[in-house]
Amino acid sequence: MRPYRLQVWLAVAFLLLAAAAMLLFPIALRRMIDGGLGGDAGDRLMTLRTHFVALFGVAVAVGLFSAARFYLVSWVGERVTADVRSAVYAHVLQQSPEFFESTQTGEVLSRLTTDTTLVQTVVGSSFSLGLRNLVMGLGALGMLVVTHPYVMSLVLLVVVLVVLPAMAFGRARAAPLAGQQDRVADSSAIAAEVLNAIPVVQGYAAEAREAERFRVATENAFQTGIRRTRARAVLLAFVIIANAALMLWGLYRGTEGVLQGRITAGQLGQAALYVALFAGAVAVLGEVYGEVLRAAGASERLMELLASRSPVTSPAQPAALPPTGAGSALEVRGVRFHYPSRPATPSLDDFTLLVRPGETVALVGPSGAGKTTVFQLLLRFYDPQAGAIALDGVPIATLRLQDLRSRIGVVPQEPVVFSASALENIRYGRPEASDAEVRAAARDAYAHDFIEALPEGYGTFLGERGVRLSGGQRQRIAIARAMLKNPPLLLLDEATSALDAESERMVQAALESAMRDRTTR
Ligand code: ADP
Repeated sequence: MRPYRLQVWLAVAFLLLAAAAMLLFPIALRRMIDGGLGGDAGDRLMTLRTHFVALFGVAVAVGLFSAARFYLVSWVGERVTADVRSAVYAHVLQQSPEFFESTQTGEVLSRLTTDTTLVQTVVGSSFSLGLRNLVMGLGALGMLVVTHPYVMSLVLLVVVLVVLPAMAFGRARAAPLAGQQDRVADSSAIAAEVLNAIPVVQGYAAEAREAERFRVATENAFQTGIRRTRARAVLLAFVIIANAALMLWGLYRGTEGVLQGRITAGQLGQAALYVALFAGAVAVLGEVYGEVLRAAGASERLMELLASRSPVTSPAQPAALPPTGAGSALEVRGVRFHYPSRPATPSLDDFTLLVRPGETVALVGPSGAGKTTVFQLLLRFYDPQAGAIALDGVPIATLRLQDLRSRIGVVPQEPVVFSASALENIRYGRPEASDAEVRAAARDAYAHDFIEALPEGYGTFLGERGVRLSGGQRQRIAIARAMLKNPPLLLLDEATSALDAESERMVQAALESAMRDRTTR
């Protein structure tokens, strides 16, 4: 909120103005009752009229100040939420694969949407409501102290005896429920995973099973939510009854006072209004308190996410890469590496590989031998536990991640196609490339013909994750993307492993054209 200090202070100023105007009401009422009931009828009517006009003036002031406060506070709430959301997303994008191995996508999505929305509710409305009622409550209490010390002491007594214990009770019940959001995250994680694998789910006729799994997760969230609501309902009853007691007691004592002639009717009315304002404020504060607790849990989880540091980062003072010609030189020496989740089984042990610029090298081995792992290390998705990797003579750990990765093009085993047009999908390799360059890359990757045959050619929308393409076509889009980037080091990860003979021939041809003058697998 720090960047929006001005708006916050303005909001506080309007809040105080509105509260001050509101606190004038009871005074105006007292004047009206006491002043309007004496003298002859005509005078009374005139005085009443001025009093009503004054009351209306106060109402207008309260309305305008409240509107200004409401706008400013909501603005800050929306602004802060948008900022937090973007910051969390940008931060998550920088996390290494290790983070995504241990965190489900749905979990991250839930943080981005549910948790930030919860924070928004609190900052944008509950917080404002709470602040307004805090000021109003304190103001009413202050006015009572000044005008009716006796009533005030009663009010304080009830607050200490009833309302504070009730709030403490509510807090004790709400604390264990902070985990509820995690349960909601559970169900969206399930949904995200299942929706991404819908052909498999339907292929195994597992719709009912999956629906049940989701229902159970949602049911858990419901149960936790209901438990929290129960605690709040009890709190609500407590607060309302305590408030009524407060009011009635005050009125009773006040009426006695009027009957005994100790105070005037106007003073009683004024005190009753202040007590009502105070009681209302306390009731709202109890409600807001619960909301704040929930948002505290949500923002804690967001901060946790923001605090997670990727184990792989660019060095503070990065080294510079020497210029290259057609290809990059690669030097991998004595590398030992195990995945973070498998400390006992190294995937690579004493692995050494030297590739000269322009050379084509194939890594051959059974599935699970560690071929993909080598690529992961070259791209510095992970750091090896021992050994050294250098690109063009520079140790990769001393390079900026962007510099390192801008020299490398990857065609992964499972090609990724975004929900965009064919043109945009290939252009992803080099966003500033012209349409002609995209087409040239597609031709080199043997993708041009099938793209042209699509209903709208290069403008054809490929569907989410490229569901409207065959495996070989997706593969060739991925190759075209890497060729458009035209990096000195091209890594092809079993680009033909899952293809039929026809597609494989096409992809082979694409690869051969890609491999000319490059370092590849
Ligand atoms: P290849 O590409 O040669 O088929 P990989 O490099 O993908 O093999 O895998 C090498 C070994 O590392 C395998 O035993 C695999 O189970 C393991 N492995 C791969 N990725 C991970 C990961 N993210 N976490 C833990 N182990 C992994």
